[in-house]
Parts: sequence; C-alpha cells; structure tokens
Amino acid sequence: MELQERLNDVRARIAVAERSGGRASGSVELVAVSKTFDADQIRPAIEAGQRVFGENRVQESQGKWPQLKAETDGIVLHLIGPLQSNKAAEAVALFDVIETVDREKIARALAEEIKQQGKAPRLFVQVNTGLEPQKAGIAPDDTAAFVTLCREELGLVIEGLMCIPPAEENPGPHFALLAKLAKACNVEKLSMGMSRDYETAVAFGATSVRVGSAIFGAR
Ligand SMILES: *Cc1c(COP(=O)(O)O)cnc(C)c1O
Repeated sequence: MELQERLNDVRARIAVAERSGGRASGSVELVAVSKTFDADQIRPAIEAGQRVFGENRVQESQGKWPQLKAETDGIVLHLIGPLQSNKAAEAVALFDVIETVDREKIARALAEEIKQQGKAPRLFVQVNTGLEPQKAGIAPDDTAAFVTLCREELGLVIEGLMCIPPAEENPGPHFALLAKLAKACNVEKLSMGMSRDYETAVAFGATSVRVGSAIFGAR
C-alpha cells in the first residue's frame, strides 16, 4: 500500500470509530507521527492534505521541519517525546503543541521560555497511567495538583492530558483513567491511542490520536 492509501485507511477507521462511539464526526484529530522519517518521506503525507504531525525528538525535528513548515502553510507540529529543560528554548521556538509536560522543572523552563519568546505552544501534561518506572509522566494521583501548579503558579495554559499505556496491557482502562483525570482537572483534550489502539482510544474519548507506523510504515 502507498502512504496515501494507508493515510486514507486510518482516516476512515477514525471516522468509523467516531460514529460507533457516538462521537461527533471530525471531533478526533489525527496526529501523524513522522519520527525517524525524513522530509522526502513526509512530503507525500503533506501532499495528501495532512497538516498535523508529531515528532519525539527536538534535534531530529530541527533538521527537517523548519524547511517543511516554510514550504506549506498550516503545519501544526506536536512534540510527543520527552523534553529536557536545556532544550526548552528550541522546543518553544519550533513546536505548536508540547504534549510531554511531565515535571515541575520542565514546566518552569517552559514558562520562562514562553515569557522570553512571546510565543506559547499549546501544552499537554503527560500522565504515567501504568506507573511504569522507565516511562515519563506524572503519577495519576499527582496529576490534579500538578495541573494546578502549572496553571496557578506558572501561568501556563494546560489544554489536555496525554498517556502511553503499558505495551503489554489492555489499553482501555488506561484511556478511561486519563479521561477521568481530565474531567477532574477541568482539562478538555485527551491525546491517546497509537497505531495499535487508536480506535479503542476514540471509543474512550480521545480528542487526538498519535499514529505513526500505520501511516508511514515500520520504523
Ligand atoms: C512513536 C510514538 C507514537 C506512534 O507510534 P505508532 O505505534 O508508530 O503509531 C505515538 N506516541 C508516542 C509518544 C510515540 O513516541
């Protein structure tokens, strides 16, 4: 299958999942995850009308996205990988959405950069729903307090929550937990679901899904 066919297939499956989940048509945004693929491999997706992309490394993104953004209007770039505070300036400069706000140190660094640059990416807090030691994210029990700190002390606008369920578990309960936390924190958006489970995520209320290999092929 060509990239365009795979992209159309993912879009169609999202539309079906929206309908069967009683979700409004078009209410779920597709973030096409282009990590490890170079500009020439990404351009066909842009030509097929895709505008929202996700990357997980700041440095890799700096090598391809300034050029791709210059070529096409309306590109929206999401950072979905871990962020180090020494990369906060570059991240604020390049990304439109940062989904991986996961600790106080990075929240403070972002608040400082947003002030400095006068440019504010939309922000999501990453939640470690499976409490996995190797995975980034705020513990579920600490999420409400962290969102409050970001908003009230640091003046950050937190738009949503994001999670990556443990690979070997049924993702449904993790998606349900993220949705419950979002409600408790008064946060509107839910970034959840990847190639293997995005339809399930839509059923649990995802407002965006992050799909890589189902569009671009195996990495
Ligand atoms: C790579 C990645 C994805 C996409 O994964 P696929 O299985 O290729 O769809 C989604 N979210 C995050 C955080 C990722 O790092």
